[in-house]
Parts: sequence; structure tokens; C-alpha cells
Amino acid sequence: MSKRNLNLIFLGPPGAGKGTQAKMIVDKYSIPQLSTGDLMRAAVSSGSSIGDEVKGYMASGALVPDALVVDILLDRLSGDDCRDGFILDGFPRTVAQAESLEKALVSRGMPLSGVVAMIVPDEALLGRLTARRICRGCSASYHLEFLKPKVDGVCDRCQGELYQRKDDSEEVILNRLKVYHDQTSPLIDFYQKQKKLYTVDGNNKIEMIFSEICDIIDSLN
Ligand code: ADP
Ligand code: ADP
Ligand code: ZN
Repeated sequence: MSKRNLNLIFLGPPGAGKGTQAKMIVDKYSIPQLSTGDLMRAAVSSGSSIGDEVKGYMASGALVPDALVVDILLDRLSGDDCRDGFILDGFPRTVAQAESLEKALVSRGMPLSGVVAMIVPDEALLGRLTARRICRGCSASYHLEFLKPKVDGVCDRCQGELYQRKDDSEEVILNRLKVYHDQTSPLIDFYQKQKKLYTVDGNNKIEMIFSEICDIIDSLN
């Protein structure tokens, strides 16, 4: 039986658990996670001209302009490691991004397998994000209460140092949630119409959500 590519999108508000679940899927299915947030944070810390362009938007919780982020993502998607599949984490975030992505995937012969949307109420997201900690080495997410590292301040996966993202402050989180509802949530309808959408209850235990996502992925093959 020929193996089908797994070309996936993880959709959901900030703090829904996209990154957490994507890391677990990477380990199980050996496809890379492409996080536009991680790619742009790397550009900012490298001090590149793209980094300079995007950092103001990111600091306020606004979206980075479509043209910039589409370029960065499509470039990364050309990597050899994406040939058997990929998980897009945090992209697309606007209908315009979704349309650019669709064109590129069609022209590259990489059709989308499915879109996993994680549904979590706003009330739960604020508490998740204000106590989130991120690894400097591998960008894994932890939580001071819900997902503690074995050793305080140290990543279980790579022993990297954990830090708090500046945009995980209450004021910026509230703006990111508004931006999500205004500009990103229309993608739920967009992918529903294409019959690509699979929803999971993201307000649940991490392992439970993981097992639901694995069932969805296995049903695609
Ligand atoms: P996203 O990538 O969607 O922004 P993350 O995966 O970084 O979200 O998760 C946001 C925060 O919530 C992190 O601190 C993470 O440890 C925590 N978290 C992730 N999934 C759950 C869950 N199912 N229940 C409780 N906390 C979670
Ligand atoms: P979260 O983990 O909270 O979902 P991300 O790391 O995905 O956050 O994104 C952080 C910031 O990077 C966003 O607030 C936004 O400024 C920018 N960003 C990330 N992905 C995109 C995208 N696809 N389009 C526009 N801006 C983006
Ligand atoms: Zn790490």
C-alpha cells in the first residue's frame, strides 16, 4: 500500500494547544512542525531585516502582514523534510493566507489532508497563556501548573532554558484573542466548506486531545 502524505493544519486561538499537540505528532508521525510564530521569533532574535520588520507587530499582538508571513512559510515549506508531510502550526491566520497557501499547495502537488481545529473558550486561554513557559532550545511549551517540567526552568526534551514570552502578558493576550476572533476564526467556515475540517474539544486533558487527533490522522490514511 502506498503511503499518503500527511499535510496538516492545526487551527485554534492562541493557547489552544497547537504547539503542544504538534510536538507530540512530530514524535509519533515523523513529520515536521512549521510554526510561523517560531520562524518569526527566530528572525527577530537573529537581528535580520525581516526580524526588524515583524517585531513591532508581534509585540502588540497584531498579525504580521500577509505578504511577509506567506513568503517565510512557503520558503520553509520547500524544505526537503516537508516532502512526506508537515504540520502548519499558526498558519494560515487570515483568509488571504489560506488562499495563498492553497494556490501554492496545488501548484506543488501537495494537497491538504485535513485541518484540525482545537476549540477552547477564551476564559481558559488567558490562564494558559499567562503561565506558559517556552524552551529557548526547542520551543516546547510548558505551564507552571498544568504541564510542569521535571526540573523548574529546564526543558525535559533538550535541557534548554525556559522563558516567558513578552507577548504572553494579559494586555497583549487580550488583543491576540480579539485578532483571532476577527481575522482567524473565519477560517473554520472556510475549511468546513472544503470538507477538510475536523474539530476537537481542546478544553480537555492533553493526552485525551492527542488520542483524538491521532484517530483523525489515522482516518485520513
Ligand atoms: P498554542 O501553540 O496553541 O498557542 P500551546 O501549545 O503553547 O498553545 O499551549 C498554551 C499553554 O497551555 C501552554 O502553557 C501549555 O503547556 C498549556 N496547555 C496546552 N494544552 C493544554 C491542555 N489541554 N490543558 C491545559 N493546558 C494546556
Ligand atoms: P500563539 O502560540 O500564541 O498562537 P504564535 O507563536 O503562533 O502565537 O504567534 C505569535 C505572533 O506571531 C502573533 O501574535 C503574530 O504577531 C505573529 N504571527 C504568527 N503567525 C502568524 C501568521 N500566520 N500571520 C500573521 N502573524 C503571525
Ligand atoms: Zn527544549
